[in-house]
Amino acid sequence: MSTLAVIEPATERVLAEVARAGVDETDAAVARAKAAFPGWRAVAPGDRAILLRRVATALEHESAALAVLEARNAGKPIGDARGEIAMVVETFNYYAGAPERLTGETIPVSGGVDMTFHEPLGVCALITPWNFPLAIASWKVAPALAAGNTVVLKPAELTPLTSLELERIALDAGIPEGVLNVVVGPGSVCGQRLVEHPDVAKVAFTGSTEVGARIAAAAAASIKRVTLELGGKSPNLIFADADLERAAGAAPAAVFGNAGQDCCARSRILVERSVHEEFLRLLEPVITAIRVGDPLDAETTMGPLISAEQRASVAAFVGDRAPVAIRGSTPEGPGYWYPPTVLSPVDPADRAAREEIFGPVACLIPFDSEHEAIRLANDTVYGLSGSIWTGDGGRALRVARALEAGVISINSNSSVRVTTPFGGFKQSGVGRELGPHALEHYSELKNVFYSTEGG
Ligand code: NAD
Repeated sequence: MSTLAVIEPATERVLAEVARAGVDETDAAVARAKAAFPGWRAVAPGDRAILLRRVATALEHESAALAVLEARNAGKPIGDARGEIAMVVETFNYYAGAPERLTGETIPVSGGVDMTFHEPLGVCALITPWNFPLAIASWKVAPALAAGNTVVLKPAELTPLTSLELERIALDAGIPEGVLNVVVGPGSVCGQRLVEHPDVAKVAFTGSTEVGARIAAAAAASIKRVTLELGGKSPNLIFADADLERAAGAAPAAVFGNAGQDCCARSRILVERSVHEEFLRLLEPVITAIRVGDPLDAETTMGPLISAEQRASVAAFVGDRAPVAIRGSTPEGPGYWYPPTVLSPVDPADRAAREEIFGPVACLIPFDSEHEAIRLANDTVYGLSGSIWTGDGGRALRVARALEAGVISINSNSSVRVTTPFGGFKQSGVGRELGPHALEHYSELKNVFYSTEGG
């Protein structure tokens, strides 16, 4: 088997060499998952719960090392990586509660008893991106296993290391062989094979809208179940009646967190025109205080981008004539660095305001009325998240209901909680992850009628 070099983006050096899977290895993983399915679905719900809790405990035990590995491989500040691993532990603990709560209903009918059951789907293919590698893997693996499925996880080629660790940890914790399989290889080879494989019942994908569309089309041929978490171009609406200092203090983290490589990034900051200049003035010290540097340095608040290609793609949005209003600084030397950058004012028709940049570039766009703010916010093919900053409670809820997006926060930029549904409207996706809702996407509803009349 050939190998794949995994690069550390802060140093541009090889961090690890891992076995590179092709079609044969992918088929073998699916075969293992298929063979393990009857046994896993038959494990008593209480025992499945115990096993998932053991995985959570084992992950927690190794969380310090996992955070360092994630920080180095994905180039994220160590504090952020620790937070993500804590969320992985929480996700396994949360879904450990699910096997015993996946209850059906009894439905009043005449002539008998009608009841529903949540049946597992079979082998689920889980395909993940490089920006939150283990966190996003856990959002899929934990509910899939809780519902009684077996899985093949295909992490992004750039960041496979913590997913490989998860496979080892789960096996050591007692998850039976074949229940959780990880294949590392190119999306166009292993990912595509999983989507087309006749023994895969469901594909859960997180990644770009472009690849998501290809996956949905390929999965349609065999009517596979598909959930998609895709791109975003989310708005951050700042009304003049907001606590501007708080809003300006929070806005940068919502764009520059994970160096902007975040599907939920509030990268379009829509500001009421009367406070546009003041907002920009409040923003400046927060941006220039961002410390870009070594992910393992506790003082670092922003790391490098994931690759040279990603940096080139981000830089292409900030041409010579871009209205750069604020720009941070980066270290010298190796590493895929890019400074936090604010463009202002940006024409809503500009490419930078319309396409997902997936890097640390924010666009400030002025608006004149609530009506215009809503129109601009919704003027996108995406619909993942959004924030509303205002002191007027009625307006906050009015605007929240009007926004075409799946995850909205008011006077806050939070998007993701283990217990609440996460996912997009429009081209940001299909289905929901996290919370109880994710389980619906990893099971089929079965209806059983039992005649009490002998007929
Ligand atoms: P990507 O679409 O290039 O790749 C994602 C995964 O798909 C990788 O594992 C890749 O190997 C695999 N893949 C590629 N081609 C494939 C194919 N033909 N068939 C099957 N699998 C294939 O995305 P990326 O560059 O890794 O991640 C960035 C994108 O992910 C951004 O657009 C971002 O918005 C999105 N994202 C969305 C969410 C969300 O929850 N909505 C979360 C994180 C990232």
